[in-house]
Amino acid sequence: MKAGVYYGVEDFRVAEFPEPELKEDGVKIAVKYCGVCGTDVHKFHGQCGSHPMKPPVPLGHEVSGVVVETGKHVTHFKVGDRVVADPNWGCGACFFCKNNMPHMCENGKGVVKGFAQYICPPESNVYHIPDHLSLREAALAEPLSCCLHGMDLLDVKLGDVVVVIGMGMIGSMMVKLCSIAGASHIIVIETQENKRESAKDYGATLFINPNVENVETVIAQNGIQNVDKVMECVGAKVTMRTAFEVAGKCATIVLFGLGKEGEAIDFYPYEAFRKELTIRASYVNPHTMERAVRLLSSNQFSASMFISKEIQLEEAEVELRTQKDSRYGKVLVHIS
Ligand SMILES: [Zn+2]
Ligand SMILES: [Zn+2]
Repeated sequence: MKAGVYYGVEDFRVAEFPEPELKEDGVKIAVKYCGVCGTDVHKFHGQCGSHPMKPPVPLGHEVSGVVVETGKHVTHFKVGDRVVADPNWGCGACFFCKNNMPHMCENGKGVVKGFAQYICPPESNVYHIPDHLSLREAALAEPLSCCLHGMDLLDVKLGDVVVVIGMGMIGSMMVKLCSIAGASHIIVIETQENKRESAKDYGATLFINPNVENVETVIAQNGIQNVDKVMECVGAKVTMRTAFEVAGKCATIVLFGLGKEGEAIDFYPYEAFRKELTIRASYVNPHTMERAVRLLSSNQFSASMFISKEIQLEEAEVELRTQKDSRYGKVLVHIS
């Protein structure tokens, strides 16, 4: 089959690649769309994504498509079904799988390789989508499911004041989700003006450029007494530091942005103590795919707002290298 294959650091090519094996509990899906994720960019540059990997291997994991074949033990899917897949699956038998932490599985059985014509995840990882949801929009199910996990950890209450740092595609989605969740103020911290502008469309209420304004001063000037929740969506040292500084008393911080492996940040226990901070990190998407599909299928969440461009597999290399269009939203690779 045709696939977009990672061969080594910054060596990504469209090539023939063996089709994945269809197991008895597996569903073979002809991939229609696969999103370009920030972790694909990390992997392209030789950094760690969410899982270790051995080249040559196709990148991509945010897939939607159509069922073309089913394993003989599959009961819930048939040829022609329109579906999305949760890219990560565990063994189901280890301590972590059995104790409701499938994303912490020690024997991870597989990860979908979505820049490819076919994938064969187990039935348990496949989700139907309703007729009115396009495959194009459905390709956002996986990134949205990761955001939902982050939002579960942030636990926004009605009326909370929330800060979202970084307006990439993930940060933008978080703003929208905070708006749905009933935050009273959604404060966006972002250096680029056009991104601050577009955050308005997602429901942000206050916009701060940390390069020219003092974040805490602007927040105080707007009559806001306390920041209750902070969602960090960049993963850089400076923005993580901002997350701690902007967090108010008894605030929760979720570190969602993917930092570099081995990179440390400044952490001041006394600051955390005085403010009684709760600090959480968010890793992938346990048990949130179904809810992501429901949200995408509802009027609450318009996926097309977050899609910046559709490209062909042959164009993926340039996108991974430059992030030309990924800066402005989700880039979808169209795979026929
Ligand atoms: Zn992703
Ligand atoms: Zn396991």
